Amino acid sequence: MVEIPRTNRVERLTAVKGMNDILSPDSACWEWLEDKVRSLMRRYAYRNIRTPIVEPTALFVRSLGAVTDIVEKEMYSFEDRLNGEALTLRPECTAGVVRAVVEHSMLYEGGKRLYYMGPMFRHERPQRGRYRQFHQIGAEVLGFSGAEIDAELILLADALWRELGLDNIRLELNSLGQPAERLEHRSALIAHFEKHAKTLDVDAQRRLYSNPLRILDTKNPAMKDLVDSAPQLMDFLGDSSLAHFSSLTAILDANGIDYSVNPRLVRGMDYYNLTVFEFITESLGAQGTICGGGRYDYLVEQIGGKPAPAVGWALGVERVLELVREQGLGPEPLVPDVYAVISDQLALPVAMKTLQSLRTAGIRAQMHAASGEGLGSMKSQFKKADASGARYALVFGAEELAQAEVTVKSLRDGRGEQSRYALANLSAWAKTLQSSA
Ligand code: ATP
Ligand code: MG
Repeated sequence: MVEIPRTNRVERLTAVKGMNDILSPDSACWEWLEDKVRSLMRRYAYRNIRTPIVEPTALFVRSLGAVTDIVEKEMYSFEDRLNGEALTLRPECTAGVVRAVVEHSMLYEGGKRLYYMGPMFRHERPQRGRYRQFHQIGAEVLGFSGAEIDAELILLADALWRELGLDNIRLELNSLGQPAERLEHRSALIAHFEKHAKTLDVDAQRRLYSNPLRILDTKNPAMKDLVDSAPQLMDFLGDSSLAHFSSLTAILDANGIDYSVNPRLVRGMDYYNLTVFEFITESLGAQGTICGGGRYDYLVEQIGGKPAPAVGWALGVERVLELVREQGLGPEPLVPDVYAVISDQLALPVAMKTLQSLRTAGIRAQMHAASGEGLGSMKSQFKKADASGARYALVFGAEELAQAEVTVKSLRDGRGEQSRYALANLSAWAKTLQSSA
């Protein structure tokens, strides 16, 4: 046997930079959000979809566009050493959803309303609201072309903000029109930027002819004036695109949804057409976009499916939860209803059987357990019971065991009131507790 020298301290391993552990009690906030989303999605008849975290690299290059921030510099791409496949950790989920929809012919019987939750990966500089592993919740609707679905998705997001109790979120809208309209706008855009070539930063110079629309998505303040004065896509839209946009705004107006039209809103992926939108808050600093989306009527075909219209959005969970904290919202702290104090080892089997039936009845029960030699003194067990936040301690001692009883001691009434119950009657007592699991 190899002796491991005790003096050699093992170097600690830490998480990858920009990728966070989500610990309790913070994780309760995540569950709270996820529960609200699930319940809301059911009310809108959206069904859950779960796609792999790893996809072929080509999927993202083809769908997001080769000349985009994500594909150019943010993807975790690697070669599978076992078979040489080019793979990428998903930077977003729309492409994967569309791939799955096509692969399983999901539109065969008609349109689909879908939603997902999960981690995404982008190699960005970690900062507030920007991480390398972050989480999105997204909704995607495929197979429907009308603006009423764009509106439904916006109403769904708005309903979520209200369910969470959030306010001070504004909505920005734009229309990117159709490919032919974009082409005309593109020529005007290139002409505009050529006239001011000296103001263009390196990224913009590189994109001038490959993807000039992307220049509008710049975060460089030095280019703001140039971008603000650029020709606006909205002015190049034909009747049909304008009609789609005005059907959307008519529905939003009728529902009392406030929005502003931002002609410079283009979003970071190439797959969008017609409607694009973002929900933005001013209270999170530079990373104020909490949700973004739009229509992508050409993506299904681009990924090899029969042409089908589609529209969706994705929200950033970390940013939404930061806003939740900022506005003092979130779930009540998690506490058990009862804490089982076990003053006699011999009572363990009966105690555990009792707790099991309480939990079946919906009671939140935490059991004291040994952390060293034995279960510890009554005093230290009561300390733990108190710290757990439980309303009652259930005491399983030798005396109780002999009579098939348990002592119920109130921990929160200030007097420590206690009474004895026959184990057989405990479920009746438990009913009065009214826990919701
Ligand atoms: P940004 O402009 O802030 O980089 P984006 O346009 O790249 O955002 P999308 O790809 O539209 O973002 O993703 C939708 C949402 O996901 C964003 O609005 C944001 O809330 C969240 N998000 C995107 N990238 C990150 C990240 N690196 N860390 C945390 N959240 C993110
Ligand atoms: Mg980004």
